[in-house]
Amino acid sequence: TSTATATAVRAGAMPLAELDDAGLEVPVLGGRRVRHVNLDVAASAPAFSAVSAHVARVLPYYASVHRGTGYASQAATALVDDARVAVARHVGARLDDAVVFTRNTTDALNLLAGAVPGETVVLDIEHHANLLPWLRRGRRVVVAESTIAATLDALAAELRRRPAALVSVTGASNVTGEVLPVATIAKLAHEHGARLAVDAAQLLPHRRIDLAASGVDYLAFSGHKAYAPYGAGALVGRADWLDAAPAHLAGGGAVESVRIDGAEWKSGPERHEAGTPNVLGIAALARALAELERLGEPARREHEEALTARLHAGLARVTGVRVIRGFDDADDRLAIATIELERGSVGLVAAALAAEHGISVRAGRFCAHPFFDRVATRANGLRASLGAGSTADDVDRFVEALGRLLAHGP
Ligand code: PLP
Repeated sequence: TSTATATAVRAGAMPLAELDDAGLEVPVLGGRRVRHVNLDVAASAPAFSAVSAHVARVLPYYASVHRGTGYASQAATALVDDARVAVARHVGARLDDAVVFTRNTTDALNLLAGAVPGETVVLDIEHHANLLPWLRRGRRVVVAESTIAATLDALAAELRRRPAALVSVTGASNVTGEVLPVATIAKLAHEHGARLAVDAAQLLPHRRIDLAASGVDYLAFSGHKAYAPYGAGALVGRADWLDAAPAHLAGGGAVESVRIDGAEWKSGPERHEAGTPNVLGIAALARALAELERLGEPARREHEEALTARLHAGLARVTGVRVIRGFDDADDRLAIATIELERGSVGLVAAALAAEHGISVRAGRFCAHPFFDRVATRANGLRASLGAGSTADDVDRFVEALGRLLAHGP
């Protein structure tokens, strides 16, 4: 049976891992309740059940981190300290890299933007979280070409034209799921005297990342996309810029000593983490990473690739649907498909999917307006995204409901 189960999981017939929303029923029109189909995992993935159980276990240890002397305070402090080590190990950080806990990816990239000593070059395919923070310090945008290869040539040309301190790219597009070759981009950036930051909000929950092996200098990610609850993320990377930068947040915990006329700021992650940390979020994040490791990248990948193939095959059978792509030569993509419709409103279709079928997707431009406006032919798209808790039945229900709605109108 265990071989049969493994085969079923690999093929997507069963979920690879149990998530908090397993078995959730939602109301639909007509007063019925149906099993919720969550195809919005790329926005926020429900927590692994193992993560919620862990949170419930550590919740009673409520006390101030790094300040109290009691047992609970020491336990809370250990949770945060251990999580820092767990994050560093999970992403293959170098020994001298810093792990700064943040609220999420957006917060992490804003922190880095306050520390970069010069201009930053980004691609136009970025999520707004990796576009807007760089406006503060001189941002240059390279419009991506129709292939990754040509895009990297354009990036190199931009860096030759004028040096930059940093290149910051997404590890995978939140619109198309297309994965970028971050090790190649790191090499390219380094050859031109720049460092590389990777927005790993989408990539980290689905692909193994190794900072030391890939040469990536900074990594930003969010716990809530990696099967942990909301509220905690991290910036991992080279400590020198971070130690030289003004504190991201000013307040208690970030300083060695304070006088009326000034302060002596700490170096290390605490410099940027003033205030009481999100202990539960941080503990949950570390537990989620452990669960990702336990499941293993190959198994997660196989499960999600089987579902992605099923999703794309299903979408190809629905008339009036076009799948959005950014690159012709992307050889790896996450379990994300964004479509646009030949006719009709994606907003209405998304609403009908929820109201009539209990299916959650996302409609809009996915906080990547410049990219969406360049590659799409319509004003808005509809995104379906899957993860470790998804099944073939989720995909089939979506494809069938979409086909029916487009044939008969929502
Ligand atoms: N970067 C990418 C590629 C994303 O998909 C997202 C979220 O959708 C973010 C950044 C922002 O993440 P957060 O809202 O957790 O800061």
